[in-house]
Order: sequence, then structure tokens, then C-alpha cells
Amino acid sequence: MRCRGLFPGSFDPFTLGHDDIVKRALGLFDEVVVAVGYNEQKKGWLSVEERVGKIRELYADEPRITVESYTGLTVDFARKCGAKAIIRGIRTTADFEYEMQMADVNRQLSGIETILLPASPQFASLSSSVCRELAHFHHDISEFLP
Ligand code: ADP
Repeated sequence: MRCRGLFPGSFDPFTLGHDDIVKRALGLFDEVVVAVGYNEQKKGWLSVEERVGKIRELYADEPRITVESYTGLTVDFARKCGAKAIIRGIRTTADFEYEMQMADVNRQLSGIETILLPASPQFASLSSSVCRELAHFHHDISEFLP
């Protein structure tokens, strides 16, 4: 049976840091599902369709990567797509504290484990929120995007 990992996130926008996590996850799983999670109540910067479209385009030549969107609990989507584990990246101790808590709750809810990958040093300061902030002030953010 093929082992599938789920990489969920807002990806608003999908950055070089996210791309690095996806590529490294391909070394651990047979298949990686990149899942754009959204909340109907909250309007994002890019639309969910734009985010999914851009990520699909990026990985068009990699048959082991699929890109989906979902709303609701990540563990419900993880079960739905038959994922063996959830993949998340950690850059800071703040990320670590948050991700530990989420991993614990998600495991209690579903038995699904979370694999935490430390950010590569060259991307450790990169976040979607910094990209949005720069773009808001008309700064070119292409150097941060895959
Ligand atoms: P969320 O809103 O779910 O945190 P993000 O799109 O901000 O969604 O992040 C998705 C995942 O990618 C999170 O686990 C986050 O810690 C991780 N991540 C974000 N930026 C980076 C980066 N530069 N390097 C490694 N992991 C990252």
C-alpha cells in the first residue's frame, strides 16, 4: 500500500519554505497531498482557487503530489484522503508550541500522527504573512515564491 502524507496549510501565498517541506516530505512518503485549508468566515489574501491553481501548476510534472482544498477539521480531511500522517513545518519555538498542541489533539481525535519537519535555515524567517505585508506595500515578493 502506498504511504500518503498530508501537508495542510493556508498557503496564502505558498512560499519557498512550503516548497522545501513538500520536497523533503517526498523523501518520506510515496505520495504527498498538499491541502489548502480555508474558513468560509475568513477572507484570505488570494482566493482558495488561486492558491490551489498556483500550487497545482508548480507540481504539474510530479505525479506523487496532489493538491486539494478543504474546510473543516484537518483530521477529518486526513481520514478522507487516507493519509497516514500529517506533515507540518516548524521555524520557531512559537511554531513548536503550537504544533505540539495541534499534533496532540489531532492524535487524540483520530490516531493520526504528525511529522514535524524543522525549517531549512535559509527559509526559517520566511512566512506567508511577511509576503502579504510586503505585497501590501507594493514590494516585489517573487524572490520568496517558488
Ligand atoms: P497555517 O495557517 O496552517 O499555519 P501556513 O500556510 O502558514 O498555514 O503554514 C503551513 C505549514 O508550513 C505550517 O506547518 C508552517 O509552520 C509551515 N511553514 C510555513 N513557512 C515555513 C517555512 N518558511 N519553512 C518551513 N515550514 C514553514
